[in-house]
Amino acid sequence: MSARLQDIIRPEIAALSAYAVPDARGLIKLDAMENPYPLPESLRDPWLAVLKDLALNRYPDPRAPELASMLRESMGIPSEAGLVLGNGSDELIQMLALAVARPGGKILAVEPSFVMYRLIARFAGLDYLGIPLKADDFALDLEAVLAAIERERPLIVYLAYPNNPSGNRFAAEDLVQIIESAPGLVVIDEAYAPFTDASFLGLVGDWDNLLVLRTLSKMGLAGIRLGYLVGPAAWIAEIDKVRLPYNINVLSQATASFALRHKSVFDEQARLIREERQRLYQGLKQLPGLQPYPSEANFILVRVSPSQADRFFARLYDAGILVKNLDGTHPLLADCLRITVGTPEENARVLQALAGLL
Ligand code: PMP
Repeated sequence: MSARLQDIIRPEIAALSAYAVPDARGLIKLDAMENPYPLPESLRDPWLAVLKDLALNRYPDPRAPELASMLRESMGIPSEAGLVLGNGSDELIQMLALAVARPGGKILAVEPSFVMYRLIARFAGLDYLGIPLKADDFALDLEAVLAAIERERPLIVYLAYPNNPSGNRFAAEDLVQIIESAPGLVVIDEAYAPFTDASFLGLVGDWDNLLVLRTLSKMGLAGIRLGYLVGPAAWIAEIDKVRLPYNINVLSQATASFALRHKSVFDEQARLIREERQRLYQGLKQLPGLQPYPSEANFILVRVSPSQADRFFARLYDAGILVKNLDGTHPLLADCLRITVGTPEENARVLQALAGLL
C-alpha cells in the first residue's frame, strides 16, 4: 500500500501554499525590493576574471575566511562578535528556528512585518505570535510587545529595522527596552541597512541576547543569496551547528568578496536610491487619494482609496510595472501596495501610470 499524503505531511504544512513569485519577464520589476542597478560595465570583466580561476570540482570552504574578513572590515562588525553566513538571510532565520525548536517554543514578531518569521516558525513546528503595530503609522506598540514578552516568554523576538512592508524604523530606545526585557534572543533584522542611518550592528556585545541579521540582497546582490548573522560568539557557535556544511557556494563567496572590494560602487547606488525614494515619495504624495508612508528603506508603502488596490495593481501591470499588492494579506494593510524604488525613469513611469488612473 502506498503512503498517504495526509498521513505523512504535517497538517500545518499541507495547509500552506508554496511561496509564489510572479513572472516578471518584460516588466519593470518593483515588487521585491531589489536594487535596480546592475553591476557596472566597468566591473564585469574584473569579476569574470575572478570567477575564471575558481575550482568548481571542490566543495566551498565552509568557513569562507576571505569573505568573512571582508565583511567584518567593510561592515564594521565588532571584532569580538561571532559571525555566521547564510544562503540569504532567509536561511539564517531558518537556522535560528532549527536551533531553538521544541514543542511549545514560541517566536514573537510584530505585524505586519517580514512574512518569513511566521512561515519559518511554522516549518519548524514553533508557535508564532504576531503583535500588531499601531494602525495609523505602523509604530511599535511597545506596551503590547513588552506585555506579550512577559506573558509568553518567546525564545526569539524578531524586529525588522527598518520594517518591511511599512518602511518605518522603530524607535531605538524601544528596541533597547525589548532587548532588556526579553528572556530569549532578540534579532534585529537590518536587511535595509544600506538605506538608513541607524544600526545596532556596532552594539553587538552590549547585551548578551542581541543578534543582528544582515543581507547583501538589497545592496545589489540579491542573485548571489548572501546573508550574515552577528552576535555574541557563544550564541553564534550554537547556531553554526545547524548550518549545512557547504551552504555558501564558491560563486557566491567569490562574488561577494569581489563586490565588497568595490563597496563604494554599491554605496553610491544606495545613495541614488535614497534620493529617488524622496522624489517618488513626494510624487506619490501629490497624487490625490494616495497616502504614501515615509520610508527609511528602498520601497514605499502606499495606501490607495478603499477597495481600489486591485485596480491600481492591474493598471500598473498593464503599464508594464510589477509592484506588490498587499491588500488582503493583513488587516492593517487593506488597500496597500508596496512599490520598490527603481531608477529615475522607472519611478517616473510609476507616477505617470498612477496619475493616468486618478
Ligand atoms: N529580512 C527582511 C526584513 C526582508 O524584507 C527580506 C527580504 N524581503 C529578508 C530579510 C530576506 O532577505 P534575503 O533572504 O534575500 O537575504
